[in-house]
Amino acid sequence: MKTKIPKCPKCGEEVKMLIANENNAVTYKAYMNNEDIEYDEIDSITSPKGTIFSCPHCDKKLFNDEDDAKGFLLGSKIEKGNKFYKVVEK
Ligand SMILES: [Zn+2]
Repeated sequence: MKTKIPKCPKCGEEVKMLIANENNAVTYKAYMNNEDIEYDEIDSITSPKGTIFSCPHCDKKLFNDEDDAKGFLLGSKIEKGNKFYKVVEK
């Protein structure tokens, strides 16, 4: 079975995988313990944007939603006028 390879909506290149960039930051407490600096995790701050998925060819941000990225990589949902996913608009 031949899989349809999705094309980047920005540059038109075939995209077999996306670059996922975790936008989450972890904040630590840093304190001295004897001679060493120690880190304690305070909180995981999840950015409202979450993971950013970008095109490996043109580096443009495409999705900020995992479901959108999945739909895109599955390749079946990119027919014209039938967009199941939301491309991140600049
Ligand atoms: Zn691209």
